[in-house]
Amino acid sequence: MVCFLYQNQTNRHVIIGKISKNEARVKFDEVIHCNNCGKQVPGGLQTGKSYYQTKPFEIELEQFKKSYLCGICRDKNRLENKKSD
Ligand SMILES: [Zn+2]
Repeated sequence: MVCFLYQNQTNRHVIIGKISKNEARVKFDEVIHCNNCGKQVPGGLQTGKSYYQTKPFEIELEQFKKSYLCGICRDKNRLENKKSD
């Protein structure tokens, strides 16, 4: 799956979609739950103004929410992937 997101552990807004270099950004909040443990996570997101609320944006947002893992579950996944190498 192609993914444009840059995750971090703080409360800064996570970038999804595309933002051109000098483009205005739209910040918005979504209710997001970890798809593994169900924990609600801070859903502060941002994207480029021209991309916001377009069809590709809606699709990407859905994909993002469907595949989201919290930091703890992501770390677990990483460890498990290592084991199976
Ligand atoms: Zn989790």
